[in-house]
Amino acid sequence: MRYSNSFPKTKKETPSGAESVNHKLLVRAGFIDQLMSGSWTLLPFGFRVVNKINDIIREELNKTGAQELLMPLLHPKEIWNETGRWTTAQEIMYQLEKDKKEFGLSFTHEEIVVDLIRKHQLSPKDYPVKVYHFSTKFRHELRAKSGILRGREFMMKDLYSAHLTEDDMYKYYHQVIDAYLKIFKRLGLDAIVTEASGGVFTDKNSHEFQVLSEVGEDTIYHCECGKCDFSQNEEIFKGKVGDKCEGCNCKIVASKAIEVGNIFPLGTMYAQKMGAFYTDSDGSKKPIWLASYGIGPTRVLGTLVELFHDDKGIIWPESVSPFDVHLISLNDDQKCDKIYEKLQKEGVEVLYDDRQVGAGEKFADADLIGITHRLVVSQRNGEKIEYKNRCSEKSDLLSLEQVLKKLNHS
Ligand code: ATP
Ligand code: MG
Repeated sequence: MRYSNSFPKTKKETPSGAESVNHKLLVRAGFIDQLMSGSWTLLPFGFRVVNKINDIIREELNKTGAQELLMPLLHPKEIWNETGRWTTAQEIMYQLEKDKKEFGLSFTHEEIVVDLIRKHQLSPKDYPVKVYHFSTKFRHELRAKSGILRGREFMMKDLYSAHLTEDDMYKYYHQVIDAYLKIFKRLGLDAIVTEASGGVFTDKNSHEFQVLSEVGEDTIYHCECGKCDFSQNEEIFKGKVGDKCEGCNCKIVASKAIEVGNIFPLGTMYAQKMGAFYTDSDGSKKPIWLASYGIGPTRVLGTLVELFHDDKGIIWPESVSPFDVHLISLNDDQKCDKIYEKLQKEGVEVLYDDRQVGAGEKFADADLIGITHRLVVSQRNGEKIEYKNRCSEKSDLLSLEQVLKKLNHS
């Protein structure tokens, strides 16, 4: 991509009213745009990062045997009445009326998945069912101040699994915990699996994936040394800070954290209320066991910026960097054009700053945008290319072959 052709460009001014780092940097670097409180456009660069996040999620979920589909966002009231959530989730759900018919905008999809499964009248051998989608969720959030961390309209990956038995549900539930930990690791995040309540979803406990950060809206109580996996959120923690964990001799500490994922072993309540049964070998009708699993890719986008930035801008983890390389031409466009073409031929994703502006502006924009690898081509360096990693102060003069090797593209 030639930066001269890219929409939009970086901004010098901090957006008015922005309090959080992710809001300021993502807007200034041209990754997101605010339509109104809690409502964001993912601009082309932001959308590239979210697509990379989603590709990692997709890859790990597909390994668990889950299948991707896409469900509607506009739901009839009747389906939500079957479980009573038209009323119990009224605070969070956007509800509307048109031609005397009432609809809800999706804040989650359990009811829709259970309806889907019951309509298909599966036989026991067709279970488990594991389906997921990436789609928009609408939630009437009262506080929407943390930039893209909390939207009223945001992207969620939600996976649903349906099983014949509780054992089978928990077996897969643990498989998803492992998959989630792999996903967050690949995204550069250390997620702490934290016990929590089930909220409007279930009376059973759920598990949150929490990333430590001072800007997090949650507080978790967890093992100080990390030797044991004790971690509980504020709603269910009954002890005191300083108590010893059960699993090891370390102290329990309280930390601020951002919830990037949440999984729920829902049980049979949904199937019972909505009539999703299967016929057992003894001829009896039994309800299916349901679990659901969410990750917020747009919240992950903001979390990455909160964790990885400096006073100059964003520092993307390589796995989700919007491009592989930020290529800068300093008064040597002919040579740089050739390098741009060669890199692209090798399958390298390049953002090429070909604008006729000063070196200072190009470097400042590269630091703000935060692409992992920076390359500078100038007459001063002859045939060599100046290479710098966004995390490091030091640069090296390399040949194109050496550059490709560094990028793992040779
Ligand atoms: P929170 O406690 O932060 O309001 P939640 O517990 O209500 O979130 P879940 O229903 O567990 O959210 O949603 C699953 C995932 O979707 C969350 O772990 C988070 O990553 C993401 N998510 C939830 N609400 C939002 C939001 N308003 N904006 C962006 N992402 C969100
Ligand atoms: Mg949650």
